[in-house]
Amino acid sequence: MAMTAIGFIGLGVMGGPMAANLVKAGFEVTGYNRSPEKTQRLVAAGGRGAASAAEAVEGADVVITMLPDSPDVESVLLGSGDDGVIARLAAGTTVVDMSTIRPDVARSLAAAGAQRGVGVLDAPVSGGEQGAIDATLSVMAGGDAATFEAARPVLDAVGKTIVHVGPAGAGQTVKAANQLIVGGTLQLVAEALVFLDAHGVDRARAVEVLAGGLAGSAVLDRKAPAMLAANFRPGFRVDLHHKDLGIVTAAAREAGVAIPVGALVATLMGSLRAQGHGDHDHGALLLQVERLSGRASA
Ligand code: NAD
Repeated sequence: MAMTAIGFIGLGVMGGPMAANLVKAGFEVTGYNRSPEKTQRLVAAGGRGAASAAEAVEGADVVITMLPDSPDVESVLLGSGDDGVIARLAAGTTVVDMSTIRPDVARSLAAAGAQRGVGVLDAPVSGGEQGAIDATLSVMAGGDAATFEAARPVLDAVGKTIVHVGPAGAGQTVKAANQLIVGGTLQLVAEALVFLDAHGVDRARAVEVLAGGLAGSAVLDRKAPAMLAANFRPGFRVDLHHKDLGIVTAAAREAGVAIPVGALVATLMGSLRAQGHGDHDHGALLLQVERLSGRASA
């Protein structure tokens, strides 16, 4: 497997370090990103740069996509008609879409691949930029079990907790649940920080003790320090979490499941974005609670 050739499309906050970790693990990685300076970072890390998606996947055994949203993945993998990546691949190639997209789109991509003998996995991740850098991501994979087992060495190079959760689309459904939990928890962390501040409590000390009790969470550990420092450099962009909460609310509605708190958090995230914070880290939910409380510093 050490010589497996990987075509990697989408070298942003997550894809950049993931592709670099695949190089470190001994894979031959050819990457493509729409803005070319990000491709140069992969070249500096020992990979090869391609000038198009088609060039990146030429001769690849495994193709990985790490793109923003469902339409981006559809346009790269399917194109308009027969000019997408899937149509270029030899039968037996595996496509692993690691972006967070709609479960129904993941299922249609798997069906399009199956028509050509190309195995398609939906394998979205959790763990953020740091998890991507450290190769400790959680990978929730949907798709055919044999395709998953074959792709496992590649997933092992970017993640630590790797679970096959079910058929095509199941990975994206689990990721939607992940985003529901993260969004809700983050909103409550933001509310707690403003609450503590209003009572004149040292927030750093408060977070330290909260982290050791039942209120402790990975969200609190990883997000509170930057929020306390008012550092909202992404990380995970508000735009992307807004997209994900749209996926969650649509999928919940489709299944007839009530998610009242999730729906409220989706509205709050949308409002934060409408106020011009789309490019900030989702920890910027803090700014909105400050504003709602008449405590905004800027
Ligand atoms: P990002 O915007 O930093 O990266 C996406 C990259 O794709 C960009 O570099 C962009 O130039 C490139 N791109 C867009 N369209 C393209 C195309 N047609 N061809 C080639 N390149 C194209 O986003 P990200 O934070 O890396 O997130 C990627 C995916 O992973 C999203 O679905 C996101 O929801 C998910 N995700 C992100 C995080 C996080 O913490 N950032 C965590 C887990 C999952």
